[in-house]
Amino acid sequence: MTTSPRPDLITPVQEAPFCASAPPIFQATSFLFDSYAQIADVFAGRSNRLVYSRGDNPTVSELEGLIARLEGTQAARGFSSGMAAICGAVLPFVKSGDTIVAVEHLYSDAYRLFETVLRRFGVRTVYVDGTDTQAVIDALPGARLVYLESPTSWTFRVQDVQSIATAARMQGVLSVIDNSWATPLFQRPCDLGVDLVVHAASKYLSGHSDTLAGLVAGPKDLIAQIDHEATHLFGGRMSPMDAFLVLRGMRTLEMRMQAHMQGGLTVARALSNDARITKVHHPALQDAPPPGLTGYGGLFAFDLAQGLDVERFCNALRVIRLGVSWGGPESLIVPGQAACGLAGAANAFQRFGVSARTIRLAVGLEPVERILADLDHALGLGEQVAA
Ligand SMILES: *Cc1c(COP(=O)(O)O)cnc(C)c1O
Repeated sequence: MTTSPRPDLITPVQEAPFCASAPPIFQATSFLFDSYAQIADVFAGRSNRLVYSRGDNPTVSELEGLIARLEGTQAARGFSSGMAAICGAVLPFVKSGDTIVAVEHLYSDAYRLFETVLRRFGVRTVYVDGTDTQAVIDALPGARLVYLESPTSWTFRVQDVQSIATAARMQGVLSVIDNSWATPLFQRPCDLGVDLVVHAASKYLSGHSDTLAGLVAGPKDLIAQIDHEATHLFGGRMSPMDAFLVLRGMRTLEMRMQAHMQGGLTVARALSNDARITKVHHPALQDAPPPGLTGYGGLFAFDLAQGLDVERFCNALRVIRLGVSWGGPESLIVPGQAACGLAGAANAFQRFGVSARTIRLAVGLEPVERILADLDHALGLGEQVAA
């Protein structure tokens, strides 16, 4: 696999304030004016100056500039979480009576947003199997927005992003993709014709399980529309401290992603040769080569064979921990059986039929032999009890 040339993950010396080796955290809400004329000029739009951190903050702007460069877009905006970024990328563009076309097995809280809030405001979402490119394209006429996530959550099925984005543009349908899994290092959706890219920076971009953050990247005109409503009026902006933490994480993104990719592939291949596993859901192990992807994240899923007890298996793990989220240094699992029991009508696990035997695994940065040994041990215990 080749990776396209891309900009440095660290701000050039000449652009760094005071040539500081790490970005300063501008922990300020407001930026002051010298005179009446200065504040009046800014309000009248005659000059451009920092005003208030819900609009712009230099630490957040530094991260926004970096993500825009990595995604190959004109602009980006930081939000307080991945979900705030998804709201920022979708809500400003839909109104009552509109239809969204979304891929099945999208992130479960994005599904919940569409099925609760958006449905209440009169926006309908139809779900299509994203691996069936023609089915997605056939659903586009009359839609306002197409929402992609490639690969999808839990099933890790990829879409033909370029074909779908091209068809959407021809029909005047806005395209949005969640690119959290691949990161801009392994997939640049705007190069494939997608309009807006969303990131849960809480995952790989920050990379240390210590920061909630989100980003939207895209062309200036769409980001300006997002600014009118999401940035200023929804107000779920990224904080300067969180921007700093994401910037810090980004410095090691390349080597972390290499390690997550290699670890994920090693574990996925080992599990696919294990009789106690009936299926491994990893894009590298699917029939069609994933177009557009130049590397793999370390998050995937596998199905335990009937003889194994899910609960015993989970409790027997010693290295891998039980917990949601992913993208940090520690390996984590979520059992589908537990996720299927999530309360509430808008339960994506039930709607899209995630198997109760599916386990989602985020391969962290531990030595891969330790992860393999842990899985082998827990699979053995899960089997003994069931026998
Ligand atoms: C976690 C996640 C999100 C949401 O990010 P938060 O920062 O938790 O709001 C969105 N998309 C995907 C694919 C995720 O895994």
